[in-house]
Amino acid sequence: MTACIAPHCSRDLRDHEEAASQLICDPCVHRMRAQLAAIPAALIVLRDGSMQRERTGDAGRTGTREAPLPCRMDTLNLVGPAASGTVHDPHGDQTGQRPLAGVLADWTRLVCEERHLPWPHRHRPEDLAGFLASHLGWASTQGWISEFADELGSLMRQVRGIARVEVRTRAISRPCPRCQMMTLSRTDHDAYTRCSNCGTAWTVAELNADAAERSAA
Ligand SMILES: [Zn+2]
Ligand SMILES: [Zn+2]
Repeated sequence: MTACIAPHCSRDLRDHEEAASQLICDPCVHRMRAQLAAIPAALIVLRDGSMQRERTGDAGRTGTREAPLPCRMDTLNLVGPAASGTVHDPHGDQTGQRPLAGVLADWTRLVCEERHLPWPHRHRPEDLAGFLASHLGWASTQGWISEFADELGSLMRQVRGIARVEVRTRAISRPCPRCQMMTLSRTDHDAYTRCSNCGTAWTVAELNADAAERSAA
């Protein structure tokens, strides 16, 4: 038995996970998928927050009754642009939270290089989060997945601390049309119902068509 290599998880990998060459367990893949799916909503809240604070600051009034918001720098850091020529930092020499855009761009760059893919046509941070989610099944078989899980986890803890975005993921109680497992779930703000087992994504129409086929069979 091999254990999941994600940080803070020591769950033994199941047979189907090992057969798929996964190095992390399905629940960890699922958590990462939910974290990536939460990024678009988080960005809306963070950008809105940092803009409001900038406007407040620009008013140029002294003696404002509002206490300065302590997280402003954090917010700006987090939603700020990726430093150009960012070097991936596997040994954690950098201090502080790197901008969300930079973190996503680094992992996207790695996936593109290793899979020989062109840089995604759409490359806003929310697009890169979707891109990374779509390659998560493959990424879960790569040795660096624990580092990715770790970095994504700490990024989302920062985001949640500032934005207090609560994004729910709920299980969908029907089998996955592809792998037949009961591993479908839907996350708020995500247009797709996703299977944490086989990594497929389905629209409501596709799921309904599958259910109709099943009941006809
Ligand atoms: Zn795990
Ligand atoms: Zn599936």
